[in-house]
Amino acid sequence: MFRNFKMVSKVIFGRGCFAQLGDILREKRQGNESVMVFLVDDVFKDKPLKDRLPLGADDMLIWVNVDDEPKTTYVDQLTLDVKNHMAAKQDALPCGVIGIGGGSTMDLSKAVALMLTNDGSSADYQGWDLIKKPAVYHAAVPTLSGTGAEVSRTTVLTGPEKKLGLNSDHTVFDQIVLDPEMIADAPNPQRFYTGMDCYIHCVESLTGTYLNSFSQAYGEKSMQLCQDVFLNDFEDADDKLMMASYCGGMSIAYSQVGICHALSYGLAFVLGLHHGIGNCVAFDVLEDYYPEGVDEFRQMMDRGSIQLPRNLTSGLTDAQMNQMIDVSLVLEPLWENALGKDWKTIMTRDKIRELYLKM
Ligand code: NAD
Ligand code: ZN
Repeated sequence: MFRNFKMVSKVIFGRGCFAQLGDILREKRQGNESVMVFLVDDVFKDKPLKDRLPLGADDMLIWVNVDDEPKTTYVDQLTLDVKNHMAAKQDALPCGVIGIGGGSTMDLSKAVALMLTNDGSSADYQGWDLIKKPAVYHAAVPTLSGTGAEVSRTTVLTGPEKKLGLNSDHTVFDQIVLDPEMIADAPNPQRFYTGMDCYIHCVESLTGTYLNSFSQAYGEKSMQLCQDVFLNDFEDADDKLMMASYCGGMSIAYSQVGICHALSYGLAFVLGLHHGIGNCVAFDVLEDYYPEGVDEFRQMMDRGSIQLPRNLTSGLTDAQMNQMIDVSLVLEPLWENALGKDWKTIMTRDKIRELYLKM
C-alpha cells in the first residue's frame, strides 16, 4: 500500500512575508467577533514581535512556555483555557489557532487545534490515525528552522507513558508562513541543534531502507542546503535553513528517520533532553552506522565551535537505563528503516545500552 499523504495547503515564503499574516487570517475570520487564538513562544514576550501580531479585538493571545517539550497535560490545559474563553462568546470554537515559535510551539498549536474538536485528553490520541475529527483551522510561523514540524503530519507530545505524536492527516497545518527574518535572531547553540535535527533527518532518510525517489529528491536538496548553511558562509543562510527544514520534513514524510531519533526519544523521556541537542548527542556516537554523516556533522560542530554535553548516562540507575531502552525500542519503524526487516537480530538491548553509555 502506498501512503496517500496530506500536505500543507498554503505556503507563503519570503523575507518580510510575516507582514501579510493579518490579511491571510482576515479571510478565515467569520463575523465581527471572530476569535483567533495565538500561541506564541514566551521568549518573544518583551520583543518587538509582540507589537507586530495581527490581533483582532476578540482574539486570544497565549504566551506558551517551552522550557519543557510539549506534554499532553499542557495541551489539555491550553485547550481548556481556549474553551473557557469561548464560553463567553456566541461561537463554540475559535476560527483559528496560530502557532508562532519553534517546533515545540508549532506542535502545541497543532495539538490544541486538534483537541478543540476531539473529545478527551490528548494522551488518548498518541499514535497513528487515532484522531477522527478535523481540527479547527491552524497555521504556523516558525521562528526556528530544522524540525520540519511546519510540514509534518505529527505533533510530538510527552504523555504519561510515552513520547509519541498525534499522527494524522488532520494534524497538518492549513497554512505556513515562512519568513526567514523570523529566525534571524535565534541564538546559538539552539540554532545549531535545531538545524542539525534537519541534517540528521536527511542522513537517516537518505541511508534508510525506506528510501524512494520522492524522499531522495527532497532529502538531497535539504542536505545540500544544510551543507551551505553550516559549512559555508552565505548571506542568505536563514533563507536556506528555512527551506532545508521544509525539504527535510518533506523527505521524512515519505520515508522515516532512524537510529539517532530512536535513541534521542529515550534521552528525552528519561533525561528531559530536548530534541535537537538530544539528536546531536546521539548522532555523535553513531559513526559505525552513519560514517559519512557523522564525519560531516563533526566538521559542522567544529566550525560552529559547538561543545556537546558529555557523561549524561553514567549516573543512571538500571531502571532508568531500561526505560530509556524501552522507549527507543517502541519506535519500530525507525529501526526497520535504518537496519532492515531483520533489525531485531542486529540491534539488541545490550547494543543499545552500549550506545547510551557512550553519551
Ligand atoms: P523549541 O521550539 O523547543 O525551542 C527551543 C528554544 O528556543 C526555546 O527556549 C524557545 O523559547 C527558543 N526559541 C525559539 N525561537 C527562538 C528565536 N527566534 N529566538 C530566540 N529563541 C527562540 O525548539 P525546536 O528545536 O524548534 O523544536 C523542538 C521540538 O520540536 C521538540 O518538542 C520536538 O519533539 C519537536 N519536533 C516536532 C516534529 C514534528 O514533526 N512535529 C519534528 C521534530 C521535532
Ligand atoms: Zn527530528
